[in-house]
Amino acid sequence: MHKAISAIKAVIKKSIAIFKYPIIQLSQVYFNIVGYKVVCNVCNYKFNKFKSGYWHKNTICPNCSSNVRLRLLMATLIHHPVLNFKNIIDNKKVLHFAPELPLRKIIAKKAGIYHTADFLAEGYSYGIIDFNLDISNMQTVKDNTYDCVIACDVLEHVPNHKAGMQEVNRVLQKGGYCIFTVPQKDNLAITFEDLSLTSKEDRLKNFGQEDHLRIYGNDFSALLSNYGFDVTEIDESYFDKKIKENNVLFPPVLSNNPLATNYRKVFIGIKK
Ligand SMILES: [Zn+2]
Repeated sequence: MHKAISAIKAVIKKSIAIFKYPIIQLSQVYFNIVGYKVVCNVCNYKFNKFKSGYWHKNTICPNCSSNVRLRLLMATLIHHPVLNFKNIIDNKKVLHFAPELPLRKIIAKKAGIYHTADFLAEGYSYGIIDFNLDISNMQTVKDNTYDCVIACDVLEHVPNHKAGMQEVNRVLQKGGYCIFTVPQKDNLAITFEDLSLTSKEDRLKNFGQEDHLRIYGNDFSALLSNYGFDVTEIDESYFDKKIKENNVLFPPVLSNNPLATNYRKVFIGIKK
């Protein structure tokens, strides 16, 4: 009986996957005619509202699955007078850790040389990447190699995250840019880390996810500054109300989960 139910569920899932693309294409004709409320600044698709995710309601793009942090980064690269595509990505040599598929496509087109990397571990699935690389120990990468290193929501998985920041600084050229995002507990002043918590249950309870090793506080910029960067923090308040609401750069409904990151920030550091 269970097998039959599983088989039916699998067929339904497959059917939804097959029809998802044409349905979303059709929806674009509809939204272009009758108007839309939100637009994803990563894939440019329009909708009445975004999908709900694990942490927040109505924050995930139904087409490309972009989330608040990714769209906040895109908004920065599109609208910021200095920290933008032209200065950071276009024709530059870029290293991108744990590359998010929709962002990867965009950067691959714009960068001069584009390398993707991840530190491969059992139990996780990865797309095709260029390098199997530990961000906290990039032995195979020479000093001053890249113009830009991107690592969104990576450092919370890295045991020695300070070595990670130092290594990113080392492989960047002087004046090069690092782009980080990290989960930050609202109103937490100091990053909370306890590497003795090794069980999935303990990590989930203390850090918000089974494979996170810490939860960051408002000290992240200061921490990153210790490793040779001038850091700029950008959150949704930087952008016009219209951009903020259209692109959903802030959760429309705050999460009550005490470990949720309601106030997302993008951290861009320039190597001194
Ligand atoms: Zn999208």
